[in-house]
Amino acid sequence: MSYIWHDGKMVPKDEAMVSVFDHGLLYGDGCFEGIRAYGGRILKLKTHLARMFESAALIHLKPAYDFEEIEDAIRATVDANGIEDGYIRLVFTRGVGTLGLHPFRCPTPGTFIIADRIQLYPEELYEEGMKVIVAKRPRIPIECLDPRIKSLNYLNNILAKVEAIEAGVLEAIMLNTDGQVAECTGDNIFAVKGDRIFTPATSTGILHGVTRRFVMREIAPACGFEVDEDVFGIETLLEADEVFLTGTAAEVIGVSRIDDSVIGTGRMGEVTRRLVAEFRRRIAEGCPED
Ligand code: PMP
Repeated sequence: MSYIWHDGKMVPKDEAMVSVFDHGLLYGDGCFEGIRAYGGRILKLKTHLARMFESAALIHLKPAYDFEEIEDAIRATVDANGIEDGYIRLVFTRGVGTLGLHPFRCPTPGTFIIADRIQLYPEELYEEGMKVIVAKRPRIPIECLDPRIKSLNYLNNILAKVEAIEAGVLEAIMLNTDGQVAECTGDNIFAVKGDRIFTPATSTGILHGVTRRFVMREIAPACGFEVDEDVFGIETLLEADEVFLTGTAAEVIGVSRIDDSVIGTGRMGEVTRRLVAEFRRRIAEGCPED
């Protein structure tokens, strides 16, 4: 039996229901986190919670529970579902309100936590690298929606994902409205040229990925690399020796092809291989929760 933590109670999965008047559903008004558990520990839990509470603050949503209460609830949900290695989804919705947009007519935000098994990318993609496309649809500009908000409204990314699916691949690179590389529909992006690793600056309008930060601050330095934040167009990626993606679900994964262009050798590059190995080593040796 699976359990969902819902507004302070652990309830069987089939009984976890959200009202049709919840603005999370009516308007995508809310925020969420995707988090991984490895060996019963929760990778970068504190960083995910900090981003969640920042998302909530940026949408003027006052969470119904504090940081420690949510942390305890996440651990309780993982335990209740007997999850050692899995995926956790934490969601704050605006709550039940009237049919108008007015967020402050929703007195109590909804809170729920799901802990489940995770569907991973096939292991061979970590050797071969992933094929991706460049989406035609640009990323919503920062001026319209601050990408630090991991909001419940993912239609911009979903429609770019549909472009990927229609092209027969799993991910799409999204450019911003100035034509600069931003990120993918559910992953951040990096490139390697010579001994330099670089990734789009947050000013390009990207989610401030937790895995991106882990790679920049811990994984790459441990492998002897610094990572630069930069602003660049798609040609720079096409000319790179290696391109790789980072994300909670994907971890670190190489890109073999962008549209019709082969990247580097067309297989996972040497730098990416070292980063993947270091990432996996850290998870195996205790999975940092901070
Ligand atoms: N960009 C977007 C748009 C995302 O949705 C995600 C998370 N799936 C990422 C990047 C990667 O972020 P994180 O490493 O925090 O999972």
